[in-house]
Amino acid sequence: MTKTISSSLLNRLFPWRTKIVFKFMLISIPFLALISLSLFILAPYWYKQNSLRALEDKSRSLGTIAAYSLAPAIVFEDSQGMNEIISSLSQSPEVDYILVFNSQGQEIARFTRSDNLTINPEEIRQTGHLYDNQVWNYYAPINHQDQIAGYLAMGFSLTEVYRQIEYIRQLITLVSVLIFGLGLFLIYIMSYLTTRPLRRMTKTVQEISSGDLSKRTEVTSNDEVGTLAKSFNLMVDRLHQTLSSLQEARGNLEKKVEERTTELKQQIEEKERISLKLKESEELFRSMVENLGEAVVIVDADENFIFANQAANQIFEEFETGLTGKNLKDYLPSDQQQLVEWQTARRKGGLIDVYELEITLKDGRKKTLLVNAVPQFDRAGNYVSTLAVMTDITGKKKEEAILAEAKASLEKAYAELKKNNEEASLLVEMGDALQLASSEEEIINIVINFARQLLPKDAVLFYLRPDKENFMQLCSSFNLKQPAEEFINLTDCWAIRKSSPYFMLDPASELVCPHLKTSRPPDKPVACLPLSSFGENLGLLVVFCCQEESKKLAGQEIENLMASKKRLLVTFSQRVTMALSNFRLRQSLQEQSIRDPLTGLYNRRYLEETLERELLRAKRAGNPVSVIMLDIDHFKKFNDTYGHEAGDLILQAVARTVQKSVRAEDIVCRYGGEEFTVILPGLELKKAVNRAELILDAVRHLEIKYGDSVLKSLTISAGVAVFPDHGKNWPELFQAADAALLQAKSQGRNRVVTAN
Ligand code: GH3
Ligand code: MG
Ligand code: MG
Repeated sequence: MTKTISSSLLNRLFPWRTKIVFKFMLISIPFLALISLSLFILAPYWYKQNSLRALEDKSRSLGTIAAYSLAPAIVFEDSQGMNEIISSLSQSPEVDYILVFNSQGQEIARFTRSDNLTINPEEIRQTGHLYDNQVWNYYAPINHQDQIAGYLAMGFSLTEVYRQIEYIRQLITLVSVLIFGLGLFLIYIMSYLTTRPLRRMTKTVQEISSGDLSKRTEVTSNDEVGTLAKSFNLMVDRLHQTLSSLQEARGNLEKKVEERTTELKQQIEEKERISLKLKESEELFRSMVENLGEAVVIVDADENFIFANQAANQIFEEFETGLTGKNLKDYLPSDQQQLVEWQTARRKGGLIDVYELEITLKDGRKKTLLVNAVPQFDRAGNYVSTLAVMTDITGKKKEEAILAEAKASLEKAYAELKKNNEEASLLVEMGDALQLASSEEEIINIVINFARQLLPKDAVLFYLRPDKENFMQLCSSFNLKQPAEEFINLTDCWAIRKSSPYFMLDPASELVCPHLKTSRPPDKPVACLPLSSFGENLGLLVVFCCQEESKKLAGQEIENLMASKKRLLVTFSQRVTMALSNFRLRQSLQEQSIRDPLTGLYNRRYLEETLERELLRAKRAGNPVSVIMLDIDHFKKFNDTYGHEAGDLILQAVARTVQKSVRAEDIVCRYGGEEFTVILPGLELKKAVNRAELILDAVRHLEIKYGDSVLKSLTISAGVAVFPDHGKNWPELFQAADAALLQAKSQGRNRVVTAN
């Protein structure tokens, strides 16, 4: 602004600043001035020099002429001649004075235009010119025949010369001024004419610049200005076009700017709205975090708290100063410090963790916190801090411990219950299986099988007492890792002696049963379980506990282990005892129901059942079944003669004889009274007849002691029939055999008759 003002002021003060013409003139002034000044200075100087040189030449010519002319007059002291010569020389207006001296230096003639002219005679002896401002002095010796005759001093007035010079100076001054003025004028005219097209152009340009793009310069010359004008017109045309398109573009741009402005305004409003919402949300969030029940903290890389909400301050019990600015490690025991360092390293790796942290308060109390830690990174991805949500779980941990303890004991109880349940069901299962056992062998197998399941880690020995014997025999075992006694005397077991289970928890320090002493002494608990029913001993179970345990058990361990095991072992032995006793009872009852009490042979009911079964089996296999019907001959006589008791003895003796005379698989029955039947499965008729003959022969040779007398001459008759030849079923077969027996009786007794 200041620059513009000063520029316009300068333009007004110095108008040539705005006109090229003036600028040309201004540029030419120094040249014109130089030319004029040179003329003004050099021309008078040159003229003066020339005038003085001309005067000098003239003085020298006149002096030479004067000296030459005066020489004879001096020599001959011709004063008139001298005056004539001087008079003729003085005709020249330039001559101011003429002085002539003789060789002694005495003035001998003179001409002066002024009166008081004196010249030092010494000066005239030197040849040359002496110039002062008024007069040009010429001194020269006057020679005559190479002898100095005298001296000449001539003065030439410079007044005329100076007057001429002054005139010339004035003239030249005028000429210089004229040249300067004329030059300036000419330059103005030339500049004016030269810059006329430019002015026109300038006018057009001003009009164009004021906005009228229809104007064009009218310069038509072929010089540079013409070319410039044409180029300018062309440029204006293009400018016009450009401006049009620019205006169009500007219109579009303005429209777009307007649209964009509206859009931006909307965006700004939206941004402001969002920013406000964000601020509100931030406020809300901050307030939420501050008042959150959960503790929220932010710790930097060195575990310094850089933020902590109220809940966090309460957890750390920093009510007055708050946690911010303090260091987390100040609240941690060394192991927890290591944990936190490790956790921070994980945060730096971008990992999120939930972990438990134990802190120590100022007063030494401890708290357990559940920490949910999330790492925070800056825009460059560098770890900055950890945001952690902390929950005080101290109470919860205690409750958890109590719960865990309760759970453990519940689990233990449940496991025990489950085990007991399993054991109970196994025991029930075993009881059921034992109920169905049809032989002692099956009982042994069942007992051992279930003992394996119930006592998998133990070794079990199962002894059975043969009927009425005073020893027990080992019938089965499992898991046994040491040799065991095959037979045990009833008196060699404490359990049998006191009729109750005997547990040796620590065989090293307790009384060990005699039957165990012979084998390798046990180092783990042993249980002797008597199988006694109604005071009668049936057998013994010996259990070597914990055979699978490699280490030796300590006192408390044994107590714990055996507490539940004792019950199981007792129950197990009771079940076995019951089953064994039941079986033996059942067996005895069954024996009684199918046996004849007098002879011990099978009775008729058993015979009929067995025969029916044997016939079915033989039918399937296609085998024969022979039947021998026997009847003691004239038995009534024996009875009558020796009494009924003797008759019973005979019956027993015959029964034994028949039993001995047949194979083990043959079935011998007392059919009734003094009649016997033998069933011989698989035996064909001929062999059965032979067998009957053998029986008859054996009976013939019987001698039975009765009191003092010997009963002998006993005979027996037999009828033999075979399935399927003599009957398709047992009644037919019996009928056939019976018929044969009747025949044997009728044919004289003591013989064997085959059925028809
Ligand atoms: P036979 O040669 O024709 O068979 O003549 P028997 O005397 O042997 O036959 P009988 O049917 O006439 O007599 C059978 C006798 O056997 C009658 C009965 O008192 C006798 N008896 C039957 N059961 C028993 C018993 O259990 N003990 C005794 N001592 N005698 C019995
Ligand atoms: Mg009879
Ligand atoms: Mg008889």
